[in-house]
Order: sequence, then structure tokens, then C-alpha cells
Amino acid sequence: MKRHTRQIVMSAPSLGGNEEKYVLEALRSSWISSTGKFITEFEERFASFVGLRHGVATSNGTTALHLALVALGVRKGDEVIVPNLTFAATVNMVIEAGATPVLVDSLPDHWNIDPAGIRKALTPRTKAIMPVHLMGHPCRMDDIMSIAREHKLFVVEDCAEAHGASVGGTMVGAFGEVSCFSYYGNKIITTGEGGMCVTSNDALAASMRMLRDHGMDKNRRYWHEAVGYNYRMTNLNAAVGVAQMERLNDILNKRRQIGDAYRSGFEGVRGIRASFTNEGKAVDWLLPAFVDEAAAGIGRDALMEKIKEAGIDVRPMFHPLDTMPPYRALARAGNLEHSRHFGATGIMLPLHPAMELEDVAYICGSIKDIVG
Ligand SMILES: *Cc1c(COP(=O)(O)O)cnc(C)c1O
Repeated sequence: MKRHTRQIVMSAPSLGGNEEKYVLEALRSSWISSTGKFITEFEERFASFVGLRHGVATSNGTTALHLALVALGVRKGDEVIVPNLTFAATVNMVIEAGATPVLVDSLPDHWNIDPAGIRKALTPRTKAIMPVHLMGHPCRMDDIMSIAREHKLFVVEDCAEAHGASVGGTMVGAFGEVSCFSYYGNKIITTGEGGMCVTSNDALAASMRMLRDHGMDKNRRYWHEAVGYNYRMTNLNAAVGVAQMERLNDILNKRRQIGDAYRSGFEGVRGIRASFTNEGKAVDWLLPAFVDEAAAGIGRDALMEKIKEAGIDVRPMFHPLDTMPPYRALARAGNLEHSRHFGATGIMLPLHPAMELEDVAYICGSIKDIVG
């Protein structure tokens, strides 16, 4: 194995602003549970960043997805359209809500969900579409919204990887009835663990608040209006979130700078296609790159081994859902060849605000050497 002096990690949160100060403030105020000023402030600031009226903070992005689906009344007998290429939490929460997921392929030329595939997947039972803006890149929202309007379907956007991405000047998350974000440690911004449902629908927001808090009537203690959950965020996590909001634009700019360095670093590298956008303005989460084995002279898995030997953290793209045991039997709309192709040839490379441009140069240079 080659000797190397570097170890480049996939992701690291950027916590150099008021994060510590606000967490201490929350701690000293003794408001460390799920009531406190940072929760309200974080919800308001994030919702207004997306351009919507209500933010309902949750314990994580997965509970946000479940909360949104349950509040919309998605249940047994309903079908929900999800992309075949996504992180599994999206489909898991459809199943958890009791509904049936229908898997739809990626676009032929981009990893995000194909609106033509959505059309093919529609049945009288279809209740909702869940576009996932995967790897920070927006889905074809104009097409998806016209299908939803035509067929009176809910759109629940999974924005867990795409805070700040936009289409035609509208933020992702502002298209659907409700949208779900994650603030896990490796996401665009973090609260440690955390999530949020964002909507401008007053009744839906009230319903999500009620379900988030055990289904309890907010004006009548221990009176339960529905079977609910404890999906609340703590004031400590929200304290980190408020500090992250103060620096969100700086974080997005730094991520873009790193992403741009990758995109130009990979220009002309044989067999590698990195981070290309199909619609709107993307943000840079982890850096997706796809390997054309014939042109690169090396397959995806062998390339990943060599990248690791160079001291660079690397991950495979998400596995297409239909290839994994729990999802094999799910209904699918047409064939899933494009998502399988993106899944089998994709890698994710390190991207986070603390990276240096020379780290990117080292990564692109190492990969260039490997593919020859
Ligand atoms: C991270 C992620 C989630 C889940 O968020 P958690 O906060 O980790 O529960 C859901 N969907 C996608 C696409 C994600 O990347």
C-alpha cells in the first residue's frame, strides 16, 4: 500500500460561530428539553429562509418525513411515489405510515426522479409524490408540480440534502404541501440530530405540532386528539441550529467553492463525470461522481479501493432500493435501469466547509492518476 500523509474525512460539521455560546446559554437557563426560545427562533428563521410560514422542528429528518405523511392523512391503501435512488429513510417512512411505496426510475441523464416515470406510476390509489433533491440537486419541480395539480396529489419534498437549492428563484421545500429537512451531522447545516417540516398550510402545521407532541390538545393537558408521537427537538439542538442559521449563507458559499473546485478539477479527467445539474440551482452536499468503466479503464469498486489507499474517504452512491431485501417486492413503475446505473457507477467524495482547496486538488489529482 502506498504511503500517504493525508487523511481526508467525508464530512465534518462547521461549528465555529455562536454554537457553543448558545448551547451554554440554553444549558444555563435550564431550558434543555423541548421547550425554549431557541426552538421557536430556529423554526421561524428556517421557515422564512425557505420562504414559508411554518417550521415544525423534529428529532430528526426521518421523524419529519413520518410526521408529514401522517398529518396529510397518508395511510393504508394509499400509494406514494418515491424515487428508486434515495436514502432509505424516504421509503421507510412511507411504509411506516402504512402506505405502499411505488418506485420510480431516475431521469436518463440525471440521478433524480423522472417525471415521465411518475406519470406511468399513477393509479387511482396514488395519494402523494415524494421528490428527493438528492445530493443537493433539485428535481424537475415544474413537471412534478403540474402532474400533482392535474391529479390532485400531495407533494412532500425530501430536502434532507438540499437546504438552499432552488428552481426559478423558489427554494426547494417551497413547492410541495409540506417539505422535510434533516440537520444530521453531515448535512448542509446541522443541529447534531434534528429535522423540520416546513409548510405554509396553517391547519397542517397545527396538526403536525399536535402529532409531534403525543397527539395532545395544546390547550388541554393530557387530552389526546389523535394517536401521536414524541418527535420534538430539544432546545439544546435548536441552539446549535440558530447559530448555524446565522452562518448559513457563508456555509453554502464555502460549500460551493469546494464544489466548483471539484467540477473544474475533474474537467478532462477520462471516465469521470462529477456533480452535474439537471434543473435549477444546486447546493453542494457530498460530491457525487460517476465512473464510466470503459473510458476510465477501472470499475467503480476498484477505483474506490484506490481512493481509500490515497487516504481519501469515499462512499458508494446509495444502492437502488429495488436491489435491497426489504424493497425487492415493492411495486415499480416501468423498468429501473437508470437508477440502477447511477447507483452502480456512483461514488460520493468528501465535501464540507472546513476542507481546503488543496484537499480538492489532491483528490482530483489522485483520481486522475488512478484512471491514467
Ligand atoms: C439524511 C436523510 C434523511 C434522514 O434524515 P435523518 O435526520 O438522518 O433522520 C432522509 N432523506 C434523505 C434523502 C437523507 O439524506
